[in-house]
Amino acid sequence: MNEIKRSGQFVAPGDKLGVIEEFIASSGTYVKDDKVFAKLVGQVLLDLMNKKVSVYPLTRNVIVPKVGNIITGDVVNVQETSSIIRIFKIGGKPVSGFFSGIIHISDVSFSYVNSMFDAFRLGDILKAKVISEKNGAYHLSTKGQNLGVIYAFCSSCGGILSRKKNKLVCERCGNTEKRKMSSEYGRGPL
Ligand SMILES: [Zn+2]
Repeated sequence: MNEIKRSGQFVAPGDKLGVIEEFIASSGTYVKDDKVFAKLVGQVLLDLMNKKVSVYPLTRNVIVPKVGNIITGDVVNVQETSSIIRIFKIGGKPVSGFFSGIIHISDVSFSYVNSMFDAFRLGDILKAKVISEKNGAYHLSTKGQNLGVIYAFCSSCGGILSRKKNKLVCERCGNTEKRKMSSEYGRGPL
């Protein structure tokens, strides 16, 4: 079965690890419809002798967003005055679990932003700072040079946008778009 994960492979909750005919589900896993899935973010351990599969958490400390942290996430919703971000990294480390944050239009930039659609679009990847937390709701800000969109995709063809001075241009179709860009746009790994 080529779908089976190898030892040491990085997995996220819900990733399929194998089928119960082949492996016994051990710690960090669960079984659904005769298949074994990862229950947490971590690394796979296949015990081939005992036919056991487990997932070990990457860190002992659970990483959750805190005020002041810089997070990396993707834009999952854009409204006229706010955006919802799915957080997948905190301070460059993968998060344990699922968190989302909200950015209000007043927290996008030090300069005036007329519409959220001029700043972010669905699927953009951005860096933001956690500015407050209330009842598990994280408020984020992209004010500052290094914060904002680091990767964006063309709204007409889905191609990756390249930075040309203060604009983003689609290499594929030539479409020009606007974002609240980070000074780190397009640089380095996500
Ligand atoms: Zn395009």
